[in-house]
Amino acid sequence: MLADFRSALIHLNLRLSAFFLIISHLSMPASVLSYNMKQSDLTSDILIIGGGPAGLSAGAVAAELGAKVIILDDNPVVGGQLIKQTHKFFGSKSHYCGVRGIDIARILETKITHPNITMMCDASAIGYYEDNVIGVVQGEKFTKLHAPKIIFATGAAENMIAFPNNDLPGVYGAGAVQTLMNVHGIRPGRRALMVGSGNIGLIVSYQMIQAGIEVVALIEAMDRIGGYNVHAAKLQRLGVPILISHTVKYATGKDFVTGAVIVKVNKKWQPIKGTEKKLKVDMICLAVGLTPLSELLYQAGCKIVYVPDLGGNVAWHDKNMQTSIPGIYVAGDASGIEEASTAMLEGRIAGAAAYQSLKGVNLQAQEIIKLSKTELDQIRQGPFGTRPRLGKEKLSALKI
Ligand SMILES: Cc1cc2nc3c(=O)[nH]c(=O)nc-3n(C[C@H](O)[C@H](O)[C@H](O)COP(=O)(O)OP(=O)(O)OC[C@H]3O[C@@H](n4cnc5c(N)ncnc54)[C@H](O)[C@@H]3O)c2cc1C
Repeated sequence: MLADFRSALIHLNLRLSAFFLIISHLSMPASVLSYNMKQSDLTSDILIIGGGPAGLSAGAVAAELGAKVIILDDNPVVGGQLIKQTHKFFGSKSHYCGVRGIDIARILETKITHPNITMMCDASAIGYYEDNVIGVVQGEKFTKLHAPKIIFATGAAENMIAFPNNDLPGVYGAGAVQTLMNVHGIRPGRRALMVGSGNIGLIVSYQMIQAGIEVVALIEAMDRIGGYNVHAAKLQRLGVPILISHTVKYATGKDFVTGAVIVKVNKKWQPIKGTEKKLKVDMICLAVGLTPLSELLYQAGCKIVYVPDLGGNVAWHDKNMQTSIPGIYVAGDASGIEEASTAMLEGRIAGAAAYQSLKGVNLQAQEIIKLSKTELDQIRQGPFGTRPRLGKEKLSALKI
């Protein structure tokens, strides 16, 4: 258990180091980044950053069509978010409905055994340099990768909310809690307050109960539950109070969280005085949305636009997932927060489109793109598809 905890901390530390390296590079002018970067150590036709459902699907399609592909991911195993999702997925049969996320990851893994694919794990892309060169840190080693086509499938980062003491140990993002529990076998606390009633908040609350954590309450600022009723009902049957129109006012504690004060909010999400309640908890878990990871795309010079329906700043892209820079593609949550099913479909489109832009028009690639677009349209007709559909329509309407 101690070793797991250490490895979780080391992993977190590496992620933070990579993040700060990216941030420090982002503040440099592009001319500095081009220094000594003309030669790359490894080349491929298509380089894919991110080995989640989007990146793995893009790689499988491009390799099958005949392209040489490198996929890199900063985790020790492939699958992205899926490696911690122990619940059975919703959706359609063709997108693994009823299969657990961890099992979908293993299925996708079998699709990247093609000899055209080189998979690099524990490898963080830390910077984009001119001529499509990506700087990669893998352990102690720094490598430069080059490809004429790059697909960014970097996923998303968790949102935080501002309240006094939100920097105390014991305040977590829901994804971090899921990683600690389901990947590293660590129980991060004993009594939890969950903030956010979207599917992530509901599902992670249930998984906390499975891990032996008491979920004292789940609060939601909106005046309704955000996620599927079936997940909410499961929690309510287990006695978890779901309090709508509530937010967290502040956390208590000196060295770590010892409690939380929650408060009722009005329709404008303003706290209503006198409605405060104290909860004795040792962890506060935030499931308050995700933001697409667009830093590397920004660094590459792609046009970035703010589209709230897609989760924030995203690289503008066309229906073939190509950004404003020819040869640079984006797919999955990095192109707008959605689901694993849509991430896989966008990945397939990006993989086939990148292949065609490299090798010319190909009937099989065209068929993959057509079919995937039809399936995306169908998924986005559903109740949870409205926001991403509107977001993507806003992108299409923009003149770039
Ligand atoms: C609790 C929870 C429940 C969910 N339930 C469902 C569900 O039931 N059905 C459904 O369809 N979807 C579900 N989802 C959503 C789904 O998991 C995501 O939409 C999907 O994983 C997005 O895929 P992706 O490939 O775009 O990104 P990710 O899965 O996030 O993969 C991106 C990968 O890129 C890596 N990466 C990022 N930056 C770099 C870098 N610089 N260098 C190297 N690697 C990098 C990341 O570490 C990660 O491994 C759920 C999500 C959560 C959190």
